[in-house]
Amino acid sequence: MKHQIVIVGGGAAGITVAALLGRKDKALDIAIIDPSDTHYYQPAFTLVGGGEYAAAATHHAQADCMPSGTAWIKDSVLSFHPELNSVKLANGESVEYDYLVVCPGLQLDWHKVDGLLETMGSNGVCSNYLLEYANYTWDCIQNFSGGSALFTQPAMPIKCAGAPQKIMYMAADHFRKNNINADIAFHTTLPSMFGVPLFAEALKGVVASYGISAEFKNTLVAVDGPNKQAVFDVEDAEGNKQQVSRAFDMMHVTPPQSAPDFLKGSPIGDAAGWVDVDPGTLQHKTFSNIYGLGDATNTPNAKTSAAARLQAPIVAKALLARINQSAQPADYDGYGACPLVTSKNSVMLAEFCYGGEVTPSFPGDPRKQRFSFWLLKKYFFPFLYWKVMLKGIEFNPAHRTYR
Ligand SMILES: Cc1cc2nc3c(=O)[nH]c(=O)nc-3n(C[C@H](O)[C@H](O)[C@H](O)COP(=O)(O)OP(=O)(O)OC[C@H]3O[C@@H](n4cnc5c(N)ncnc54)[C@H](O)[C@@H]3O)c2cc1C
Repeated sequence: MKHQIVIVGGGAAGITVAALLGRKDKALDIAIIDPSDTHYYQPAFTLVGGGEYAAAATHHAQADCMPSGTAWIKDSVLSFHPELNSVKLANGESVEYDYLVVCPGLQLDWHKVDGLLETMGSNGVCSNYLLEYANYTWDCIQNFSGGSALFTQPAMPIKCAGAPQKIMYMAADHFRKNNINADIAFHTTLPSMFGVPLFAEALKGVVASYGISAEFKNTLVAVDGPNKQAVFDVEDAEGNKQQVSRAFDMMHVTPPQSAPDFLKGSPIGDAAGWVDVDPGTLQHKTFSNIYGLGDATNTPNAKTSAAARLQAPIVAKALLARINQSAQPADYDGYGACPLVTSKNSVMLAEFCYGGEVTPSFPGDPRKQRFSFWLLKKYFFPFLYWKVMLKGIEFNPAHRTYR
């Protein structure tokens, strides 16, 4: 099997690159390798957990997402052989390529927290990071009659670094509106509420307004579901660690995350397994006919589909430039966006580039919580994803530096 352009992963990034390429040049021979029957719009999982979105509306058949003219190889890649310009599939076959685009997303490491897998989806332990557990998040919030509600965030990098706290604010809003007495705590491995200081400061106000206790440098290491106990590694100011146990009535867990196992130790991964690309061109640092984008790369942007939306045209244009000797695209500036849901009708829209530079696309103070941004999150962004981005239509409103 051989194709001119082979794309590993048909998620947000892979389908968008294929669709952009197909629109620009119908003669290209493109194949996507992806084993999944279903394509998910993961940003809506947060709203499912908050009782604001139907789970069924978050996904479509993968077959319906494949751009016309793109071949779909329905299998998993097992290994990379860049010296042979080929990848090996789970079925034992090899697929050769002229150009390879690598975007298989990241891996959720539920097993790294003792006892977590055994209790996920029961005993009040929920997560929006898999759709099968997101409905249970809403069950937990609705059935919560008071007591301790914990929300956790593991070490970075994770996809959508705001998601662990968005669901907490939706839950807090629900509890407040229903006069439920909740002792809410956010246990995060990070030293602050968010990686971009401007938004971290603003989020302190949101946390205070709900009476939430923010527990920094707290890492969830074990869960005893039946006895409703969570164990955290807690690091003090001197770097000393001790284990602390906390009782919960409900707990939303964000699992540890890492590069997919099949990238770890592969010739195209860095030491941690992330696809090793140049942060501007997204071209592989060693193999010049390989590009990487989306959650699977080691670029220091926020791992979001907003980032994939802006990375995809860079990769598509770079490939076209090499095939047709056309102009090289400008470098990717690290843009990512995180609509920080702060209640069941408000959003603080965090947009930023490499280095934590705040780069809003809308006028005004980006720290302001707005109902209009809630409408964007709930209605416009899903439309943008399914009908614009995955169809290969570029949407990149200018973003400006905010100081
Ligand atoms: C709860 C939650 C909330 C989020 N909120 C937001 C948000 O508000 N805004 C935002 O912009 N982003 C958000 N995101 C992040 C966003 O969904 C991801 O950043 C985006 O989907 C990354 O795109 P990707 O193509 O790299 O990976 P994915 O979309 O995850 O796709 C990866 C694809 O690769 C395939 N694959 C995996 N392994 C293999 C293999 N071995 N061989 C071949 N194919 C393989 C998979 O089947 C999948 O189709 C959220 C994510 C979650 C979980």
